[in-house]
Amino acid sequence: MRLPDIAYLTDIYLDFGAVAVLPELLERLGVKRPLVVTDAGLVKLGYVKQLKLGKPAVFDEIETNPTEASLLKGVAQYKKSKCDGIVALGGGSPMDLAKLLGVLATHPEPIEQYAIVRGGIPKITSKVPPIVAVPTTAGSGSEVGRAALLTLNSGRKLGFLSAHLLPKAAVCDPELTLDLPPGLTAGTGMDAVSHCVETFCSTKVNPVADAIALDGLGRGWKYIRQAFADGKDRPARREMMLCSLMGGLAFQKSLGAVHSLSHPMGALKSRRLHHGTLNALFLPPVLRFNRDACAEKMDAMAKVIGAPSGAALPEAFAKLNEDLKLPARLSEMGVEREDLEPLAPLAVEDHCTPTNPRTLDVAAARRLYEEAW
Ligand SMILES: [Zn+2]
Repeated sequence: MRLPDIAYLTDIYLDFGAVAVLPELLERLGVKRPLVVTDAGLVKLGYVKQLKLGKPAVFDEIETNPTEASLLKGVAQYKKSKCDGIVALGGGSPMDLAKLLGVLATHPEPIEQYAIVRGGIPKITSKVPPIVAVPTTAGSGSEVGRAALLTLNSGRKLGFLSAHLLPKAAVCDPELTLDLPPGLTAGTGMDAVSHCVETFCSTKVNPVADAIALDGLGRGWKYIRQAFADGKDRPARREMMLCSLMGGLAFQKSLGAVHSLSHPMGALKSRRLHHGTLNALFLPPVLRFNRDACAEKMDAMAKVIGAPSGAALPEAFAKLNEDLKLPARLSEMGVEREDLEPLAPLAVEDHCTPTNPRTLDVAAARRLYEEAW
């Protein structure tokens, strides 16, 4: 099924204090009984109260890298509470889970049949209830994205894509990110930065998205160190939220090998590795791998970040990771060499692989994993 090449449809509310619009927004969308999909940590920290929705139904049994088991629990709760819409509150995990919860709330199980690689795109219909996304990190860009990822009971991490997964509105309030600790600021921020880089290099033609991605990269590059050093730096938090938003708007061009390598690794149940942190780590080797396949684009990115040339990008990103105290090697994250063995074929099969500027085959994926290990 062919989706439009250029599509910008989500209403975005962006500013400090924007979250106050939520009750009115839900009313306008005809949502009377929203299910707030979030994680338990955010509930404890009082974020649900900040939504000013009275006592809404809440589903908070979500892990990092959301799973099918968690999804099914959420669907049961949605039906039991007779909800008619969803508020996704949190980072990429609650937002992705909320989208797929919207699918199973109104479409038959199992969820796997709706995955991109199972030909599921046309099976997701307009029956998905209204979703409003309220990000509390600046990273995934899922608030304006039409994609979602889920780790199935089988252990596979699969991608889902449909215009109907797009939130009806995104409420981007940088105030909600001020308490994000430095480690997560770095990891989620680098997810946003990696979206800008990868989608800019993607082989799909969408110059509108390219312009957005480059601008987002410039903002992320300029402000991520500041947001990491001082979480209360309001201008830096606002710029990082924009970087995330712009990465999310742009990656309808799809992504590339950084995400292809990162997805199967993030599905390793025994390791629970952070998606953005993995992407940060894979950026330098993948930029080196892709360099000659999109030299002009590498030079354009170098200009934006103030590097001497495209050839200097891998080093510049390695230095950025170091400044953000992110790991440089998979082994530092507790990954064992045996963990790598089954991953290369899965990376090649990933939905982000076809748009990487250089062909990624199993041998190349294996080499890149080794290099990153
Ligand atoms: Zn990502």
